[in-house]
Amino acid sequence: MVLKRALNYINNKGARAAVKRGLSKAVPKLLIEFPALNALPSELMIEPTSVCNLRCPLCSNKSLKRKHGRMSLEKFKTVLDKAGPQVKKVVIGLTGEPLLNKEVWKMIKEARSRGIFVEMPSNFVLLDNFEMKEVIDADLNRLIVSLDGASEKTYKKYRVGGDFKRVVKNVKALCKAKENAGTKNPEVVIQFLVMKHNKHEIKAIEKLARGMHADVLSLKNTMLWTSLTKSKREELAEKWLPEEEQYRILDKELKEVRGSPKVCPAVFDYCSVLWNGDLCLCCNDFEGEYLVGNIIKQDFAEIFRSKKYNALRKAALEKTLPLCRECEISNGTFGGKSIRLKGDSDEKN
Ligand code: SF4
Ligand code: SF4
Repeated sequence: MVLKRALNYINNKGARAAVKRGLSKAVPKLLIEFPALNALPSELMIEPTSVCNLRCPLCSNKSLKRKHGRMSLEKFKTVLDKAGPQVKKVVIGLTGEPLLNKEVWKMIKEARSRGIFVEMPSNFVLLDNFEMKEVIDADLNRLIVSLDGASEKTYKKYRVGGDFKRVVKNVKALCKAKENAGTKNPEVVIQFLVMKHNKHEIKAIEKLARGMHADVLSLKNTMLWTSLTKSKREELAEKWLPEEEQYRILDKELKEVRGSPKVCPAVFDYCSVLWNGDLCLCCNDFEGEYLVGNIIKQDFAEIFRSKKYNALRKAALEKTLPLCRECEISNGTFGGKSIRLKGDSDEKN
């Protein structure tokens, strides 16, 4: 027991912090060499469905080769049971639109009842399918709404199949319902991916976000799908990425690296669970190319400390996997700017 607590202390307070800061490559190497030292992760990313109602041009969802599907509430509970009580944060979403799973609010409620901080990204077009009371009752901590335009024309250029007016209406309705219920949750974050066609609306989106009573505006650099060929990445960068350095993902292939390379945080700090319980390498592995096991069918700790997982961790750290080579997360080029519009964050971890 004492040993276990001591190991947890080393892992959680020391090793993980070192990994996060990218200060030491020795710690991840040690965790790969001695898997027993590797404490189970405190964060999960869970995909309630791989299906999406939109067709955003830079997203791999529309060409996904793996089978599409939805996770049931029962399976979601099994995932939380198997992952263990050390899980303190769950992101509900990977690829796909979470609101296309009718049980998503019950899933959130379940995770919240276990004291877990829950965050959910959504294109937020489909809120009309749910009762507002259900949304407020679920007590979601943070909702990240994709709204990459302050006008219908700009929004529709990227969020193909979306409905600008409906997203704005839904955000307003949710913020009003929060106010009526006297609750802070969910913290509403408007996420604006900065691209060539929408950069002129940055001031306008801030005004719109304030007008809707959102809590945060997140201006994010737009990531290019890491597994694309060099020529495809260049073509997409030319078409979609802004020229301005502060909004552009500068990648090695394009010979414009900004930021310093970091130790990949994904392979130690959190696990990504696909709708069928398969564990993939990280949130960039949408296709599930690098599966390490199935959390519903197998023991989670065994998967987490398995030779297969560790071999992939090693390859990720050495950037020998095609998926990792141009990864903005580990290149240190992923980022953006958050503007708090009101209130404080409740996130502790
Ligand atoms: S809404 Fe999200 S998952 Fe759906 S196509 Fe757009 S980026 Fe992909
Ligand atoms: S793509 Fe590779 S380097 Fe990037 S987050 Fe995933 S595992 Fe880490």
